[in-house]
Amino acid sequence: MTRSSLSSLTVAQIRQGLLNGEFSAHELAQCALAIIDQRDTQVHAFLEITDTLAYQAADRVDAMVVAGDQLPILAGVPIAFKDNMNQLGTHTTCGSRMLEQYVAPFTATCVARAIEAGGLPLGKLNMDEFAFGSSTETSAFGFTRNPWDLQRVPGGSSGGSAAAVAAGMATITLGSDTGGSIRQPASFCGVVGFKPTYGMVSRYGVVAFGSSLDQVGPFGKTVADVAEALNAITGRDPQDCTSQEHQTDFSANLDQGIKGMRIGIVPAFLEASGVESEIISATKKAYENLERLGAKLVEIELPNANAAMSAYYVIGPCEAFSNLSRFDSIRYGYCHSDAATLVEQYEQSRAHGFGPEAIRRIMLGSYLLSSGVYERYYYPAQQVRTLITEDYARAFERVESIVTPVSPRAAFKFGEIADPTAMYLSDMFTISINIAGNGGMSLPVGLGETSGLPIGVQIIGPQFKDENILRVGAALESCYDIDRLAPGFSAAGQRRGYSDSPRFAAELASDLCPAASTEGGAR
Ligand code: GLN
Repeated sequence: MTRSSLSSLTVAQIRQGLLNGEFSAHELAQCALAIIDQRDTQVHAFLEITDTLAYQAADRVDAMVVAGDQLPILAGVPIAFKDNMNQLGTHTTCGSRMLEQYVAPFTATCVARAIEAGGLPLGKLNMDEFAFGSSTETSAFGFTRNPWDLQRVPGGSSGGSAAAVAAGMATITLGSDTGGSIRQPASFCGVVGFKPTYGMVSRYGVVAFGSSLDQVGPFGKTVADVAEALNAITGRDPQDCTSQEHQTDFSANLDQGIKGMRIGIVPAFLEASGVESEIISATKKAYENLERLGAKLVEIELPNANAAMSAYYVIGPCEAFSNLSRFDSIRYGYCHSDAATLVEQYEQSRAHGFGPEAIRRIMLGSYLLSSGVYERYYYPAQQVRTLITEDYARAFERVESIVTPVSPRAAFKFGEIADPTAMYLSDMFTISINIAGNGGMSLPVGLGETSGLPIGVQIIGPQFKDENILRVGAALESCYDIDRLAPGFSAAGQRRGYSDSPRFAAELASDLCPAASTEGGAR
């Protein structure tokens, strides 16, 4: 093993290190928690640290190593969960005052599967309130900072999940994606983020936003890591009737290459207004690389994709309005104590428990579902949804995957986008995939020529052919020599853009956990 801190180890390297006796899972947990202790004071990705649970999981893995048992897929891998995922005995705040005191009485299937697969659960991650947002600024518990530039947002709503990986605080994290909330923060933080096809991962125990759109997926530094995480969490769960059985080994065909593969490109996306030139040039370079790898680029049209945003901001708020009605201060949630009547208790509790963006979505959903309005908006939005789904189905008769930008721009500064509708445009390239239900992944393809910040491309696949996405991703990834850890947090230890250079890096990791660090260069 080269000299590398735990932060830069991949899932496969962790496994190998455990099997070779280079370190124990207990040491991995100790090291990961120490790194969080150091780094999260700046990044603020974590809302809760679950050290006892991490050590318990580590002990189970170490016992398996000693017994010579076959190690499960994520053995010893430091993992963490978006704070809309229930994990028995931990808080599940959804980034909201409404659930500040809520302690989960059960565990979400995706969380249980990641832990059963040997992951070391480090804690719960910050997010936009109830997953409404694209910057993590709507969290009631403070901003998460982008590890690439602490003055900038990490994206959202799974901002904590992306930032934790980019800062080397966890190897795999889970997030949820309703309109782009895995892919956009992955792009902003320079890591890989995967939104599987709707139905691939159980949402049981994940607090619902838009039930026909929500999907859980992993973040990681590499495509191979994300494939392993998918192996751990996907598959049928009797507790979620939308989840589907499938037998795919997502790691199996990563090195098959893409020679002869037909990959769709959507010229209209690069011509859309508001797309920054560095995004266009990074995407075009990715196209060149795909061709160099032997793929055949095919121009395709998604004629109804430009209506996806409108359909989403009808369907999403309607479903959110319905899902959030359960937070009534009686069964769940913040209770305003000095209300005189029951109705006043509902009103006061919801008015004080929810933040402005949650209230905006609830009001919008309530209006859109009212009689007379419903017919004019909700029904047409569902028709648009069918048209978009058909657009993708038609396109996938001609190509095996589609590659587009993830976001029209790189990470922005805190407070820079104050207008909610301008914020909604962050998801102009990701939303149609949730509307259609397909899988999509954000893959880092270098740094913007103007901003110097990470930029990702989105790789989309036919429904339930998510392995196509991984195959294209693994091939394209090989064209880029990018350290997925943000510079200030990488083994090279060089911090860009800040003066307050902390003592991160390899020396720190070796101080904290000499066992995870040996001679050699950075990854
Ligand atoms: N940014 C989008 C929204 O605010 C998507 C959020 C998500 O995927 N959870 O609705």
